[in-house]
Amino acid sequence: MLSRDRAVQQMLDIARQQNVETVWDRLADQLPQCGFGELGLCCRHCTQGPCRISPFADGPQRGVCGATADTMVARGLVRAIAAGAAAHAGHAKHLAHALHKWARGTAPDYAVRDEAKLRAVAARQGIDGAELSTRELAEKVAHSAFSQFAEGDGPMAWARATLTAGRMQALEKLGALPAGIESSIAEMLHRTHIGVDADPVNLLAGGISCAVADYTGCHIGTDLADILFGTPAPVVSEANLGALKPEAVNIALHGHNPVLSEVLVRVAAEMQSEAQAAGAQGINLVGICCTGNEVLMRHGVPPLTHSISQEMPILTGALDAMVVDYQCVYPSIVEVSRCYGTKVITTMGMAKIAGATHIELKEEEAAEKARQIIREAITAFQARRGRPVNIPPVKSKVVAGFSVEAILAALAKLNAADPLKPLLDNIVSGNIQGVVLFAGCNNVKVPQDHNYLVMAEELLRRDVLLLATGCGAGAYARHGLLDPAATERYAGAGLKAVLSAIGQANGLDGPLPPVLHMGSCVDNSRAVDLAVAIASKLGVDTDKLPVAASAPEFKTEKAVAIGTWAVACGLPVHLGLVPPVLGSALVTSLLTAGIKDLLGGYFIVETDPQQAAEKLYAAIQERRRGLGLETRPW
Ligand code: SF4
Ligand code: SF4
Repeated sequence: MLSRDRAVQQMLDIARQQNVETVWDRLADQLPQCGFGELGLCCRHCTQGPCRISPFADGPQRGVCGATADTMVARGLVRAIAAGAAAHAGHAKHLAHALHKWARGTAPDYAVRDEAKLRAVAARQGIDGAELSTRELAEKVAHSAFSQFAEGDGPMAWARATLTAGRMQALEKLGALPAGIESSIAEMLHRTHIGVDADPVNLLAGGISCAVADYTGCHIGTDLADILFGTPAPVVSEANLGALKPEAVNIALHGHNPVLSEVLVRVAAEMQSEAQAAGAQGINLVGICCTGNEVLMRHGVPPLTHSISQEMPILTGALDAMVVDYQCVYPSIVEVSRCYGTKVITTMGMAKIAGATHIELKEEEAAEKARQIIREAITAFQARRGRPVNIPPVKSKVVAGFSVEAILAALAKLNAADPLKPLLDNIVSGNIQGVVLFAGCNNVKVPQDHNYLVMAEELLRRDVLLLATGCGAGAYARHGLLDPAATERYAGAGLKAVLSAIGQANGLDGPLPPVLHMGSCVDNSRAVDLAVAIASKLGVDTDKLPVAASAPEFKTEKAVAIGTWAVACGLPVHLGLVPPVLGSALVTSLLTAGIKDLLGGYFIVETDPQQAAEKLYAAIQERRRGLGLETRPW
């Protein structure tokens, strides 16, 4: 089985019939993959290489420069963290520029949609906004964000303001507090250059520091997106390829950054009549990957599919345009689109694909660019009219939009004076045994969504509350776990009672869904905010909470960075694929055990999802025991 998703299975049949190559075919072509690479035992950091270290005693044990297996593995890991941090930093900086340009009056198509959040973030960052207009304050917040990127005076203000004091002390003791986001990324590239840092322990400490820089970038990304586009609140939608409409102009928004997609959502609403005049029923916006998560969370735009199955919507023959920004966009979509007439439109100067149409987003004329993009899609629709389409009739109901603000607002209906109290009371009583955040991607090496589904079923029935972001949230959306009806089917009695009580207090027909969709990958920062709020209320640090994270099908360097900062926050973090570190026993043991003594968090590597659920549950029970709470066997 390549995917658990029925819609994807149907499209794969079509791909076979029509001889279209997909990501699964290309993986098969790559097999067997290089064993040195899988162990992290190769290095191309200079032209004396590539060097490879033998995992067996009778082969070479050092690279040409003398680098050992431990050094090579640590350097490779740290470079992955730096690359992931760079991606999130670029995303965050892009939003800071958009906010800054709006504040200066040069980006008229944007606005501050959540002034309360602007003022809250400003206050949190120590900016006195009492006498300032919205634009003046927005400019100051944008400057405050910009200041996080360069080297500053000590720990970055954004991290210090959002993590616990205990966390900051633990990181400081380890020498793992970065001076700035981009300076940290640059330092990691310097340190992993030939002939610089060859101490694996020192390299890993640097990697953790860079991961904290990544956390800061993610948090800025979330905060500024909320300020510019609104803080998400619960929204009802549907997910999967069945959300495509044969008679509409179907436009998929793919990538990560909402800076263009938000404008497209607004402009599409204004251009419905233009699409109708071209013979369409209207414009149907749909999402892919994290750009899809952003517009789902704020506007209910249906997510179509995620990560490795991004070629599938094109195979339906019903997708008129795929508009991409950056990150996780496979270049193969251009090749597949040639067979079906889908316009692939790249929009970022730093993320072009040969063969795609490029319409570059400029914040100064965003609406005009959005109109141009939609007209391209309408033209593509006119060209495909009358051709058969293959839209699988597969879709699930979705309730998304669970920002921390939305969760607290829902809890406030149970206790207006102290919204966190109902959550804490239920954790203490054991109705909620703990919380697991599912994050990360799909990976073509795992049957798509399988690990997510097995783990969720096991944990939910044991009363573990699940949060999800990124393509993990997408997996749950496509499989019906973001539907409140799934609470009845999957949740244990205690969890069901809590989710039902919250639903009832909020005037809903039923419970909340058993998995709460918190947003895109950068929105993992929302989960930290929730954990920090709970920890502060309990008077403990985040490394004591019965909270864990899992990236059961992770793929990207961004996921490596996020996983590392989740460990830095004190969480047990499960990985469902083996990262390329097994070539160093020292690095492997530091990541899975040694680091626990220093930060409380640690990695659990387990490829069997059943076993993984068991291990996360055990980690939660260990934390409950530590807090003096009643425990429950598996
Ligand atoms: S840095 Fe050292 S191990 Fe890496 S390629 Fe150069 S010589 Fe080989
Ligand atoms: S979860 Fe992973 S694959 Fe999916 S959009 Fe985020 S980084 Fe990309």
